[in-house]
Amino acid sequence: MGLHEPRPGWVCAWGAATDTGVIREVNEDSHLADFPVFMVADGMGGHEAGDRASAAVVDAIQALVGPEPVTVRDVRERLAEAEVRVRAIASTPGRDAGTTVAGAVVVHQDGALYWLVVNLGDSRTYLFRNGGLTQVSVDHSEVQELLDAGSITAREAVTHPRRNVVTRALGGGQVSPADFWLLPVSQGDRLLVCSDGLPTEIPEEEITRVLGNEPDPQQAADALVQAALAAGGHDNVTVVVVDAAADVDTSGDDADQDTIPRADLSEDTRPRVRNGATWN
Ligand code: MN
Repeated sequence: MGLHEPRPGWVCAWGAATDTGVIREVNEDSHLADFPVFMVADGMGGHEAGDRASAAVVDAIQALVGPEPVTVRDVRERLAEAEVRVRAIASTPGRDAGTTVAGAVVVHQDGALYWLVVNLGDSRTYLFRNGGLTQVSVDHSEVQELLDAGSITAREAVTHPRRNVVTRALGGGQVSPADFWLLPVSQGDRLLVCSDGLPTEIPEEEITRVLGNEPDPQQAADALVQAALAAGGHDNVTVVVVDAAADVDTSGDDADQDTIPRADLSEDTRPRVRNGATWN
């Protein structure tokens, strides 16, 4: 559980959870959840290459963490550095280490705060707003291409035998650009970033229900990972939940309360503004 106050009266609160799952022996997922970076990377490649690849992405992006405003350009630069690091990881001949990258960075642009959603591969970023769940990222996967072509239905996609085949990744012998989306941050937004081990185990209706029922982002992340394990835990599963909530102690606007995730904002969990900095 973490908290940061990027602007007076606004609190960013987050939680994260990960598990190797029931079947796998190694957790090749990595994640970074620290303001302003909320990312998941799902590594691939044998001989420990996958977990090293996903960890390399986190290491490269870690430089963005802190109170200094981050721009879109900063994120692009760190992703380029991440790609260099992933390509440097030795692996079995002919099979390069690779990793998905998904998530959001809170960026400054023209004086406003945005979620810069980034995607390469089939990890996902969802926006939970006003009780509804929307997938922001579009998977880079064979199954997504079949869906786009109308060859299969969404129901068939869930169990399709080639559902694990990604068409873009960082490294993995591929040169592929990331997709970006820029969404204005709104009070009450809740973002969910997850590896494919979550949506392949539990339906989006259950994800929506948990996000609506668990106001605390850490408890929501824990509950989603537990649900994936209970459903079979066939893959590594990683979940990051991040809230852009009003600081209920200073907003003074009760009318908005029922659309805001009720993060734990009592006196003893007040955000600590790092280095006394606030963002303007
Ligand atoms: Mn996975």
